[in-house]
Amino acid sequence: NVRVRFAPSPTGPLHIGGVRTALFNYLFAKKHGGDFILRIEDTDQNRYVEGAEKYIIDALNWCRMPFDEGPGKNQKYGPYRQSERKSIYKQYAQQLIESGHAYYAFDTSEQLDFHRKDHEAKGKTFIYNWHNREKGRLINSLVLSTKETQSKIEAGEDYVIRFKSPQDETLHLKDIIRGDIKIDTNILDDKVLFKSDGMPTYHLANIVDDHLMGITHVIRGEEWLPSLALHYQLYQALGWETPEFAHLPLILKPTGKGKLSKRDGDKLGFPVFPLEWEDPKTHDISRGYKEDGYFPEAVVNFLAFLGWNPGTEQEIFSLADLIDAFDLNRVNKAGARFDPDKIKWFNHHYMQEQPQSELAEAFKEQYAQLSDIDVNYIELVIGLVKERATFVSDFWDLSYFFFQAPKSYDEKASKKALKEDTKVILNAVIELIKNTEDFTVETLQTNIKSWITSNEIGFGKVMMPLRLALVGALQGPDVFDIMFMIGKPETVKRIQTIIK
Ligand code: GLU
Repeated sequence: NVRVRFAPSPTGPLHIGGVRTALFNYLFAKKHGGDFILRIEDTDQNRYVEGAEKYIIDALNWCRMPFDEGPGKNQKYGPYRQSERKSIYKQYAQQLIESGHAYYAFDTSEQLDFHRKDHEAKGKTFIYNWHNREKGRLINSLVLSTKETQSKIEAGEDYVIRFKSPQDETLHLKDIIRGDIKIDTNILDDKVLFKSDGMPTYHLANIVDDHLMGITHVIRGEEWLPSLALHYQLYQALGWETPEFAHLPLILKPTGKGKLSKRDGDKLGFPVFPLEWEDPKTHDISRGYKEDGYFPEAVVNFLAFLGWNPGTEQEIFSLADLIDAFDLNRVNKAGARFDPDKIKWFNHHYMQEQPQSELAEAFKEQYAQLSDIDVNYIELVIGLVKERATFVSDFWDLSYFFFQAPKSYDEKASKKALKEDTKVILNAVIELIKNTEDFTVETLQTNIKSWITSNEIGFGKVMMPLRLALVGALQGPDVFDIMFMIGKPETVKRIQTIIK
């Protein structure tokens, strides 16, 4: 049974890469009839941000990828917050010490700093591993006697528990996306697993929880690839079966050069962090893709293509289609370029598929001017303009003339459309409209067009000023649609206004 997890730290920004990781986990789980688990990795209390967990859960639900197990839901392997699992981790750190895979270290940060600088001065890099740990002035249980170690702990001295990485070994790691990876253990430092404040570090908690929660596949961002060697060794040292790993490619700036960063969001004019915030102290925490008018279908479809492709020309995928088509073997190693135009393109596509009644409600909610207008009328208007809209917030500029007479006429358009004979022509059109009993798009069109033809007037000479009168500019949907929608009296009034 496939079991995967999304394991964010509630430290603030759930950035676009995080949502992409969640999506790929979700797709993989659902493709294989497995479980998608949410685990909150909140061991770092200093970086904890109030409300972040709720926002993460809201984001997953908004994307229509609810978790099967997690905080407050289906507690089979719970609790799912690491802060509530504190008591679990110590025994495993202890086990590693007893089996000789880990050791206590008492070096203070000043002492470590000193060693680092001392090495630098000699043109070397300080690595806390077999190169140094048992010589020099390092203070750990490998150089101290058991008694000395014990008395330091009892005296309440700060310590950490470090993993003892081996000398002169080559590790063979496997990654579904990257294939076989060889690592020389001599470059690995002895990572900290546990601290004297009783808290495990990310590495230990992550491994222990993945094991206890029965995780079969670890799918996460490329930034965790450097930790893979340690994680492999931890599984081995604890005598546990290693899950399979897949490290997703980086997300690159729109230019394709360098990793996408917070600041790119500002430059692009919208937040890179969807459904989340950057720094809650300085940023508007309520703004993200959702708030900026993106549809979840568009965000999901866009994110799926950040690193994956179906191997065909097809670009439009519903979540169900994605579950069907998704395959970790089709995820690229190379970084995926973030293209802000592409997500807009998807949004435009999904705009056309939204229930029109919902669009009408959303539009009405955004504009006070629409509060008295029948939602059915708004719905009809949307049907006429949505083809040119990417966001609900585009509707007003595309359709204001369905709700109010133009307040002014575009200057350039006026020059182009209004000529000496315009008044005579439009007066005749007014008569024609007044006499059109059956005020439908078809009849209006037939009457006006045949009048133009039989009087041998240029088409533009009539249609351009007519459009200007109705819209205030030379744009918008079909003129006859507009006339029909606003009705006969309003149509006549607007034409009279422009030739007054
Ligand atoms: N807590 C880590 C994060 O914030 C989880 C990394 C992993 O999936 O192993 O991304």
